[in-house]
Amino acid sequence: MSIKKRVLITGAAGFIGSNLSNSLLQNGNYELIGLDNFDNFYSLEQKKKNLAPLTASADFKFVEGDIRNMDDLLSLGEIDVIVHLAAKAGVRPSIQNPILYQDVNVAGTQNLLEFARQRNIKQFVFASSSSVYGINEHVPWHEEEKLMPISPYASTKLSCEMLGHVYSHLYGIRFLALRFFTVYGPAQRPDLAIHKFFNSIVKGQPIPVFGDGSTSRDYTFVNDTIKGIEEAINYDQSDFEIINLGNHQTVTLSGLIEAIEKVCGKKAIIDRQPEQPGDVPQTFANISKAGKLLNYHPSTDLETGLRAFYDWYLKNNS
Ligand code: NAD
Repeated sequence: MSIKKRVLITGAAGFIGSNLSNSLLQNGNYELIGLDNFDNFYSLEQKKKNLAPLTASADFKFVEGDIRNMDDLLSLGEIDVIVHLAAKAGVRPSIQNPILYQDVNVAGTQNLLEFARQRNIKQFVFASSSSVYGINEHVPWHEEEKLMPISPYASTKLSCEMLGHVYSHLYGIRFLALRFFTVYGPAQRPDLAIHKFFNSIVKGQPIPVFGDGSTSRDYTFVNDTIKGIEEAINYDQSDFEIINLGNHQTVTLSGLIEAIEKVCGKKAIIDRQPEQPGDVPQTFANISKAGKLLNYHPSTDLETGLRAFYDWYLKNNS
């Protein structure tokens, strides 16, 4: 009988955390502890819905707790690997509340690293972000690119990557920072463009479009991101890596809206707004490192991914 890996997933009630937990449980090789403090960034109801199918599994234990609270962490059971997804997410709100973002994202990550050190947990997978690249025309971005974050959120993610390097160097904790590129799919956060656009188009409400529609994003379907995270959980070839998990395909904002219109069979009403501070004009990942180290080869095209989101959206909003 093979021994199951015990994985702590922080932010397990959230979008990526619940999709990841679900996929690892189906795989059958893992025992999961999901930790989440039900942060009020979006609805508690949505997070409880995300958790419901997970808690039915004997291999999933949910703990309500805060990554900043060492007592909460020390009460958790045996752990082999930490996948750290909990964070204050979102670029624009970080500009309104930079101190809180610093506290949760940076102090919270350091607390979790201290916990890993104290408990001798030797594998730490961290959710970083494409936003660390900032404004940089040299696309597609490879991991060695000069980093120029332009929002408090982005700078917290970069700080965490560096903290990871410190703990990897001093204490031999294997630290893998995965830079996610605009992840979408079932249970996507309601503040993100795809979710907001579907919601407004379905309801016949105008959608706010920031800028002239030419900004572009490297949208990654959540199942592809999750395959990369699972490979990182089992990666053992080196002690510190930063790896892009994008899709290596860019879509303009106007192109995205057209694709959503096609999927839901309805025209969008555009409410043109000025560009937002903190937003970058483009994101575009070079994913050759992920291909080499994590056998990462994203395969979901935008229309297929949008249809999967829309199916979930309809079921959850009936
Ligand atoms: P999410 O908000 O859906 O999930 C994050 C979860 O963390 C939430 O359930 C929240 O309640 C929890 N949380 C927040 N503060 C906490 C705390 N102090 N203690 C315990 N739990 C806490 O976000 P997501 O989109 O699933 O993102 C997951 C991670 O991936 C985040 O770190 C985010 O910054 C990163 N990321 C996401 C994207 C994306 O496109 N979704 C892109 C780049 C990076």
